[in-house]
Amino acid sequence: MAISPTSARAAERLLAVEEALERILSGVAPLGAREVPLLDAVGRTLAEDVTADRDVPPFRNSAMDGYAVRGEDVASAPASLRVVGSVAAGGVPDRGIRHGEAMRIMTGAPMPDGADTVVRVEDTDNGESTVTITAATPRGLSVREAGEDLKRGSTVLTTGTTIRAAEVGLLASIGRPKPLVIARPRVAVLSTGDEVVDVGEAPAPGKIRDSNRYSLGAAIWACGCGPWLRPIVRDTPDALRAALRDAMDADAIVTSGGVSVGDHDWVKPVVGELGTIDLWSIAIRPGRPLAFGELRDGTRRIPFFGLPGNPVSALLTFEMFVRPALLKMSGRTRLHRPRVQATLLDTVDKPAHLRFFARGIHDAARGAVTTTGPQGSGILRSMSLANCLIDLPPGTKHVDAGETVTVILTESPEDR
Ligand code: AMP
Ligand code: MG
Repeated sequence: MAISPTSARAAERLLAVEEALERILSGVAPLGAREVPLLDAVGRTLAEDVTADRDVPPFRNSAMDGYAVRGEDVASAPASLRVVGSVAAGGVPDRGIRHGEAMRIMTGAPMPDGADTVVRVEDTDNGESTVTITAATPRGLSVREAGEDLKRGSTVLTTGTTIRAAEVGLLASIGRPKPLVIARPRVAVLSTGDEVVDVGEAPAPGKIRDSNRYSLGAAIWACGCGPWLRPIVRDTPDALRAALRDAMDADAIVTSGGVSVGDHDWVKPVVGELGTIDLWSIAIRPGRPLAFGELRDGTRRIPFFGLPGNPVSALLTFEMFVRPALLKMSGRTRLHRPRVQATLLDTVDKPAHLRFFARGIHDAARGAVTTTGPQGSGILRSMSLANCLIDLPPGTKHVDAGETVTVILTESPEDR
């Protein structure tokens, strides 16, 4: 069957951001779970509840370098005690202590029987056979109880937890070198366009360098997924078909360009051949055209995101639509960036019927936001200068300085 480029009619109805996002999120699901080495678990979602295999700390131990004593012997100072031994971290005390005795003890070393208090070395004369305590020390000071961090058998982390440095430490402390996590989505990234050449090539007349594969690859990386950069795709259905087939090992596919209604926009018909696709005209600027669908490879279904070619549109639609989907595939339940209210410091003109995402610089201390200057969808510097998006709703074509606006903090991790 002959195919033709996208017809203008297919892209007529304007879709709201929420509606598109809802459809996208309902079309993707978390990947399967796998065991990974502990450090590879950073940024992944835990796919099991983990319990402590023993108390942490596993035994009563000293929080200071000093002397293990009985509290009643050091309730007032000065006090003189007989030193009966020494215990270092990793060792075990060779005896207990009694009234009038002290044992030298290092941080992390097990407490000797009979001792309930540690006097830090700074509060002593550091004596070897006898020690003079120079500061009164309350009973129980500088002792860490067994299990005060984690109790044996207790649930330490639950399914769905995002693993950060602290969670890696907890997993290590309970002896889990290979936690079960949701797999990291591997995302194929394709640039389409006869005008596009790779960054290392000298662009011939009429050609431009490919920035999208790299900016999108970086954005994929930044949200904890693995970018898989594929060769540049020429504007023919055959080239696109072959490139998509080659990318089907991925967990998701992201393309840029070729989703408008030009004569060489092949994404919709070709993806339609290999699976299903919707081409939407979203009521936003930048980034109006957006294609979402899935490719089929036997029983596998690979989510497909066709982003517009303009560099700002590509990154912005990634931020608004692809990032939440990839986070969901990663097992996350918090998918969206934090939003705050701020006072707009400059005046913005926008298309009246569209939601406009101006690139902004948010000053949290002052609760204020300014735009980054020219906002054209080819002006990538507008995004480079930005630390936020200013979310201006449809219905107005002019937002005055001094108005309160909603700001999406694109440099902060998701919070809801
Ligand atoms: P398209 O969506 O294919 O109509 O492309 C829209 C605009 O984005 C055109 O000016 C393209 O030259 C430009 N463009 C498309 N792909 C890229 C790319 N990978 N890197 C930079 N600019 C691009
Ligand atoms: Mg193109």
